[in-house]
Amino acid sequence: MSTPTTMTATTVVLPAPVSTTGCRDCAGRPAKRIASYSAGDPRALSEADRAAAASGPDAHVHYAARGDRYVAVQPYNGEAR
Ligand SMILES: [Zn+2]
Repeated sequence: MSTPTTMTATTVVLPAPVSTTGCRDCAGRPAKRIASYSAGDPRALSEADRAAAASGPDAHVHYAARGDRYVAVQPYNGEAR
């Protein structure tokens, strides 16, 4: 396939760990890890993106340099939903 990626959610790829203070979508909020995928898997980003899309409008994907993984995260405002 020549077009392997279909973005269904806001995807932010950052060279940073899961708790990313510089992430616009997290905006300084803590984030709960939903799922993570090894970046060595060519489907990892689309799988992570799909996991984020299924979890809510604020969920998005971080790239974690430590471990070389795509991590779907859900930021929250200190109260569980
Ligand atoms: Zn973020």
